[in-house]
Amino acid sequence: MGIPQTLTPFTSKIFKHSSKFQNPLHQNFKHVKTLEACLEIDKCAIFSVFIFVGDSTFKTKMPDNVTFARGGIDYIKRKTDILLSSEEVADVIAQIEKGRLTRGFKTNYQHIKHVKKIVREKAETKSCSKCGANMVLRKATKGKNAGNEFWGCSAFPKCRNVAY
Ligand SMILES: [Zn+2]
Repeated sequence: MGIPQTLTPFTSKIFKHSSKFQNPLHQNFKHVKTLEACLEIDKCAIFSVFIFVGDSTFKTKMPDNVTFARGGIDYIKRKTDILLSSEEVADVIAQIEKGRLTRGFKTNYQHIKHVKKIVREKAETKSCSKCGANMVLRKATKGKNAGNEFWGCSAFPKCRNVAY
């Protein structure tokens, strides 16, 4: 995969302002390197294609692998040489799926945890039974309850009221 030097830098015209951004082929080059290492397949079997969406325009003629949505499909369809066996293809798909699943699962779990905490804090906002100030969720750092959350009066240390 060669990188045509004439493409540097790319210019994108957004709302009449032209702005230069990192040559996507250089970015894709890093992605290809990562895929090559992660999937343990030869780089000859990896094709880098950059597909623009929306109403971008090219000022100069673009190489084969820089295209608009429809052209991206055509580019893929033109690759008809068999480079990987069906077992290798299945293996690559499985590895990608595995990576996606792990990451998706982790992100999802963290998100749910975060949302639950906010919801709990909002739903359970309570007032101190002794002084009427808001109770806040705190985490015990010492004692037999270390690591556990508890409700403490926001007026601490003036008021030492707690609730579990
Ligand atoms: Zn209080």
